[in-house]
Amino acid sequence: MESLNKFQKVIKTGEIKENEPLAMWTTWNIGGPARYFAMVNSDEAVLLAETAKRNDCPFFVLGGGSNLLVSDTGYPGLVIKIKDDKIKIKGTKIECGAGLSLGKLVGESMSSWLTGLEWAAGIPGTLGGAICNNAGAYGSEMADSVVELLVWQGDKIKKLKKSDCRFGYRQSIFKGAEKKQIILSATLQLATGEIETSRQKVKDILKQRKDKIPTEPNTGSVFKNIAVDDDDLTRLQKEISDLPESFKKAKIISAGYLIDQLGLKGQKIGGVAISEKHAGFIVNLGGATSSDVIMLISIIKQKVRDNFGLQLQEEIEYLGF
Ligand SMILES: Cc1cc2nc3c(=O)[nH]c(=O)nc-3n(C[C@H](O)[C@H](O)[C@H](O)COP(=O)(O)OP(=O)(O)OC[C@H]3O[C@@H](n4cnc5c(N)ncnc54)[C@H](O)[C@@H]3O)c2cc1C
Repeated sequence: MESLNKFQKVIKTGEIKENEPLAMWTTWNIGGPARYFAMVNSDEAVLLAETAKRNDCPFFVLGGGSNLLVSDTGYPGLVIKIKDDKIKIKGTKIECGAGLSLGKLVGESMSSWLTGLEWAAGIPGTLGGAICNNAGAYGSEMADSVVELLVWQGDKIKKLKKSDCRFGYRQSIFKGAEKKQIILSATLQLATGEIETSRQKVKDILKQRKDKIPTEPNTGSVFKNIAVDDDDLTRLQKEISDLPESFKKAKIISAGYLIDQLGLKGQKIGGVAISEKHAGFIVNLGGATSSDVIMLISIIKQKVRDNFGLQLQEEIEYLGF
């Protein structure tokens, strides 16, 4: 109650909610309540984070909840959702708020005849979440476009260059349980190009996604693809005689492909299942719990390890465990 008053005092608009069910803020529709929950602009997000820090209250910044597994017991701290979705286009540069949806960003950039974000068409979530996860598809990723970020770093707001963010495959300095930085806004560099070609690319990508992505609530690919060495490849080829050439050449194996090879599509635990449409996705069949997901994830990891000697790593993040 005391914290509630302290949080409420620093925001001018909106209210701090208590025991807000996080299931409705995640694309998996799974997760218990947040002790406190606020949807605010980025200035207020900073004030709230500072207040939480001063009062030893844990806090977490939520984007679109499309890369998260939230515990059934919820989160015992303050969840801050940034609603800033401003977008300013200056030549080939775009400045945008962290709460901007990726879909709107793709649409607005195309309307301004800018190319470079076509790959992001159909990916849910916000700009803040996409930068944190260095979201990517079709050989491109968020880091390709990031020039500069405005970030709250626990005691001050700082401009970070792309090189400060240590972007890697679905990785950045913002990802991980201990992180306490908030991306407030970003400047992206796009290019002018053949807009009709771009539009066609977006249409093709959206069609491919529609064919591939399950209709049940999900969180995209649960696992990262795996980088392999020559020994791994030799071992894998003994198990899978027709291992695709593209994997051998890139020395990267799709996690979904391995799960499919094990015949695991359709495997159910409680209210979740490995999608029949795409083995890299775990879908909520209705009434799923985070425990169901955890159990299914551990079965998948064990089977992949036992059969192929490879260790899968989650692409999703955990909250409240
Ligand atoms: C159907 C479907 C398809 C998908 N396809 C892809 C794909 O092709 N490629 C891909 O990479 N991903 C994909 N995803 C996963 C997910 O959509 C992306 O990773 C997305 O960028 C996550 O953004 P979000 O806003 O939902 O982040 P959230 O899930 O809300 O949060 C993820 C992380 O970002 C952090 N975060 C959010 N905002 C901020 C901020 N302002 N400051 C600091 N940290 C912040 C959170 O704290 C958390 O650590 C897919 C998901 C679904 C459901």
